[in-house]
Amino acid sequence: MDYFLTEEQQMIVDVARQITEEMIIPQRAELDEKEEFPAEILKAIAKADLFGLYIPEEYGGFGGGCFEMVLALEQFGRGCVGIATSFAASALGAYPILISGSDELKRKYMPVIARGEKWAAFGLTEANAGSDASGIQTTAVLDGDEWVLNGTKQWITNGGDAQIYSVIAITDRSKGPRGASMFVVEDTDPGFSYGAKEKKLGIRASSTRELIFKDCRIPKERLIGRQGTGFFTVMKTLDLSRPGIASLGVGLGQAALDEAVNYAKQRVQFGKPVISFQAVQHILADMAIQLEASRSLVYATARYINTEPKDMAKYSSMCKVMATDMAMKVSTDAVQVLAGYGYMREYPVEKMMRDAKILQIYEGTNQIQRNVIGQALNKEYSRN
Ligand SMILES: Cc1cc2nc3c(=O)[nH]c(=O)nc-3n(C[C@H](O)[C@H](O)[C@H](O)COP(=O)(O)OP(=O)(O)OC[C@H]3O[C@@H](n4cnc5c(N)ncnc54)[C@H](O)[C@@H]3O)c2cc1C
Repeated sequence: MDYFLTEEQQMIVDVARQITEEMIIPQRAELDEKEEFPAEILKAIAKADLFGLYIPEEYGGFGGGCFEMVLALEQFGRGCVGIATSFAASALGAYPILISGSDELKRKYMPVIARGEKWAAFGLTEANAGSDASGIQTTAVLDGDEWVLNGTKQWITNGGDAQIYSVIAITDRSKGPRGASMFVVEDTDPGFSYGAKEKKLGIRASSTRELIFKDCRIPKERLIGRQGTGFFTVMKTLDLSRPGIASLGVGLGQAALDEAVNYAKQRVQFGKPVISFQAVQHILADMAIQLEASRSLVYATARYINTEPKDMAKYSSMCKVMATDMAMKVSTDAVQVLAGYGYMREYPVEKMMRDAKILQIYEGTNQIQRNVIGQALNKEYSRN
């Protein structure tokens, strides 16, 4: 379907597609097998100027928004969700600074992130605080001109590979949800270290580690926004970034459909290509319907978010649920169409199915997204 992209937007798609075809697809199986961080591919993405897509021009970026990120992420997701996650997580780490940071912080960090010279990461989750982020235990205490952080963040994408970390910590426990604040921590800060790299089901090219703060001292200017606004910044960050996760689902769904149709056309059983069996055609038709419906909602949502509306949370959650549930279903169906061959690592669909699962979990599980949508509906209909 023609989504009537502008010339600039089409250029983003073309550049991202070229990197996907020339670098990501040829290397994805090896990076997945070796569980290797895709440093060289990220450098190529930086060289193509795509790290600054969502960053305003005054801070060295391209000046685009959520939609421009969605376009690039869809292409990278078509190649490999693990590699694409490493790219997406840098934006997730940058958004808090962009949303709430001082001009000084933006000038210090945005240009290097936009050029892809440094990678970012986002530290919210802890061992006992997943969906219930209000349960975080990491603390930050002001001591003279420095904040002192103590605690451990868990399952942080790009942990140990990024140089810039946006981290939330409790600054005043007595204030409840208004008692948390966000900070920028740099990889070289004293008292900051990492846990071992996690072993995962999928997205194995993406690195996931603990962030460990033991009397980690950072200058007081690294506070992002005002003290007590940490959860506001986290929620806004996730609203902006979830359509990106949805677009990884769209890219993965497209790749799974391509593999399934191409295979069904050439695989012969009972003297005919299996695509000639109506049962197979119906699986493919359902895959195509769900994929295009998801792409339409993701594009419409991302375009809407570019206008900075107040009610973005509901739509951001809706497109994340729809496109990532679709990616799980469509990649599972692709394995079914390829059947025994689909189950083998020789074909890419088994990796797609493994990779799809994370999309329903990170940046808030799809159950939590449904809670957000349900709560928004409840509020809306109470007003009418
Ligand atoms: C590979 C990977 C990368 C990640 N990257 C990052 C990162 O970069 N930064 C970061 O901060 N975090 C990251 N995370 C953490 C991720 O965001 C959390 O795993 C996720 O938010 C869910 O938390 P949990 O796993 O603790 O599940 P839990 O909160 O323990 O949930 C368990 C189950 O209960 C359900 N549930 C919980 N509460 C409710 C409720 N109120 N209503 C309905 N159902 C509910 C959940 O949906 C789930 O099915 C990553 C996780 C993984 C696996």
